[in-house]
Amino acid sequence: MSELRVRFAPSPTGYLHIGGARTALFNYLLARKEKGSFVLRIEDTDVARSTQESVDAILNAMEWLGLSCDEGPYYQSDRFDLYRQKVQQLLDEGKAYRCYCTADELDAKREKAKAEGRKPKYDGTCRHRTDQPDTPYVVRFKLPEDREETTFVDQIKGSISFRHEELDDLIIQRTDGTPTYNLVVVIDDAEMNINLVIRGDDHINNTPRQILLYEALGYKVPEFAHVPMILGSDKKRLSKRHGATSVMAYQSMGYLPEALVNYLVRLGWSFGDEEIFSMADLIEKFSLDRVGRSAGVFNPEKLLWLNSHYIKTGDPEKLTELLKPFLEEKGIGIDHGPDLLAVVKSLQERSATLIEMADGAAFYYAEPVEYEEKAKNKFLQPEQKELFSLLLEKLSACTVFTEDQLESAFAEVMNITDLKFGKVAQPLRVALTGGVPSPGIYEVLQVLGQDTSLKRIKKAIELLAD
Ligand code: GLU
Repeated sequence: MSELRVRFAPSPTGYLHIGGARTALFNYLLARKEKGSFVLRIEDTDVARSTQESVDAILNAMEWLGLSCDEGPYYQSDRFDLYRQKVQQLLDEGKAYRCYCTADELDAKREKAKAEGRKPKYDGTCRHRTDQPDTPYVVRFKLPEDREETTFVDQIKGSISFRHEELDDLIIQRTDGTPTYNLVVVIDDAEMNINLVIRGDDHINNTPRQILLYEALGYKVPEFAHVPMILGSDKKRLSKRHGATSVMAYQSMGYLPEALVNYLVRLGWSFGDEEIFSMADLIEKFSLDRVGRSAGVFNPEKLLWLNSHYIKTGDPEKLTELLKPFLEEKGIGIDHGPDLLAVVKSLQERSATLIEMADGAAFYYAEPVEYEEKAKNKFLQPEQKELFSLLLEKLSACTVFTEDQLESAFAEVMNITDLKFGKVAQPLRVALTGGVPSPGIYEVLQVLGQDTSLKRIKKAIELLAD
């Protein structure tokens, strides 16, 4: 069998959407698994709506997700000569024709068809025209009349047939001379030797038209696999109403690409009841026969759950680098204070996103610590003075803050005051963190270090004296 060649062909008219990212991912995974090629093609023939900013946003998002291509990006805007040549070929062979019908005439035909209860479609007026008036024209593809339907076997949806009476003579070149999507996608997929087209099922109605164009242009028809769309929780097509739909919005919200990749692949594909997949697992396990036929429902809670999993199990050094911009955005300076790596390790278990982690890191670097009003009123009261003095004494006596030494210091304090662990730890936590949810008390002490911890206890004692 020849090498598998798949492609992702986004139109640069906006950011990379969650649905587009999943299509790109499926293509990427299959190419990697089959040791084929993954081609990236930017479909920018709609010059008015395509922007460089969108191209950059799409490339950036693909890079963030780790979806590297083997070829491209190719730009359709560089290939207009080829498209023009192919349109001419179809005209020369009588497989396409110039249509001079004006917008008004077409509107009138549409209205008439509607009034007569017919499906509005082009009636073929210019099909047999031989004159070439000097007025604007589009080029239409002549729907072949040699058979009544076109059938293809979709690798996800099975056999699909379209009756030609549903189709009409498709515009392949606009009045301004630019080619249309259905034509260029066929030329490019064929010229780029794409042998499997994996794309969203919003394109399924285009497929029979494209098959007819492949045939008319003398190209081999590729295989197709149409991926069911993604719905929101209300079973309507996923849109901004359901939350962020841009891939990079998830980066800004503190998600890891591993989590998004893992989440996206499961939106439509399954492997027994496994939920956690690394990219390497996916490259090994992914196949189209495990892609479901029904639409996937976007579930933000599950994505968040996966994100906390990847934060929990992630490489602390990598997370440290990823966290820095979030700290900066929140104005949390890390030049003074504990080692960020230790901070990250202490927060991995309890952060679902990097934003949560940045929030959780704030108290470590706060100078002075800001006390939460409620916690302060409850725990930083004059009657705690003896407790804090004892804590200061016993924690000062530790030579280093090992777990053992901290345990003995606490045991002594508990013994002398006759207080249970919680009654010692809670006020101390307020003195050290200000009262925010935070890691275990020993961990907080260890990460803050002895100097800072003692300083914060002294500060609390000063406050009690007021
Ligand atoms: N440019 C088209 C889109 O973004 C590509 C469709 C296809 O994959 O054929 O929807």
